[in-house]
Amino acid sequence: MSVITNCPSCQTQFIVTETQLDQHNGQVRCGHCLHVFNAINELIDSNSEIYTTEELEIPKKEITNTTRNNVQEVAIKNNQDRYFNDINNSSKKKNSKLTNLLIFTLVFIGGLQSIYFLRTEITIYYPNSKNYLLKICKAIGCNIDLPKKIDLIVIDDSDIHEDENYLGVIHLSSTLINRGNFSQTYPNLELTLTDNEDKPKLRRIFKPVEYLTDQSNIANGLAAGEEIKIKLAINAQNTTVAGYRLFLSY
Ligand SMILES: [Zn+2]
Repeated sequence: MSVITNCPSCQTQFIVTETQLDQHNGQVRCGHCLHVFNAINELIDSNSEIYTTEELEIPKKEITNTTRNNVQEVAIKNNQDRYFNDINNSSKKKNSKLTNLLIFTLVFIGGLQSIYFLRTEITIYYPNSKNYLLKICKAIGCNIDLPKKIDLIVIDDSDIHEDENYLGVIHLSSTLINRGNFSQTYPNLELTLTDNEDKPKLRRIFKPVEYLTDQSNIANGLAAGEEIKIKLAINAQNTTVAGYRLFLSY
C-alpha cells in the first residue's frame, strides 16, 4: 500500500510505500531539495503535485535525529559537489576543446615540418609539387636541395695509373651513373690509395667542384640516368701504391 508524504522544506509530495517507511523509521531524503525528513511525520492525503518515489531517496544508513543536522550538511555538500561537478564538466569540455585544438595545431605544424624536412623527398615522388615548394621555400627562405640517394649513384668503372712523365703522380679515371629517375646532388668521391697489404696510405675526398670540369652543372645536379666521366690527378709522391678504393658519399 502506498501513501503520500510531504517534504517540509520544499513542499513537494511523494508517493512512498510502507516498506520504504519501515526501512529507516521513516527517514528519507527529498529528491527535489535533498532535505532529510521523517516521511511518517509528514504523511498527508492530498495529491496535488506528486513526484514518483524514485526521486525520494531512502538513506542507506539509518539516520537518527541526532545525526539529522549532519545529514543536512551532507545534502549541502552533495549540492556543492554537483556544483563543482558542473564546473569540472564545463572545464573538461573546455579542456577537450583546447586539447583538440592543440592536437590539430600539432598535426598541422607536424605536417608543415614534415613537408619542410621532406621537401627534397617530396620532389622525388611528386615532381609536379616542386614548383609550388620552390615558391613556398622562396617565401620562407629555404632551399630545395637535390636528392641524395647515394645507393642510386654507382661507380661504373674506375682505374688508376701512374703518370708516364711525372713520378708519383697518379691518374684516376672513373664513370659515375645516376640510376635514379630524378636529378641528384653530385656526390663526394673518396679515394683511398693502399699498399701491398691493402692498408690505406693516402686518402682524399674530392668534392664536385674539384672533380667536375664544368662547374655550372653543380646546381642542376646529376640528371636522371646521366653518366659522367671523371679524371683526377693525385700527387702520391713517396707513397707506395699497390691498390685503391673508391667510395661515394655525401
Ligand atoms: Zn524537498
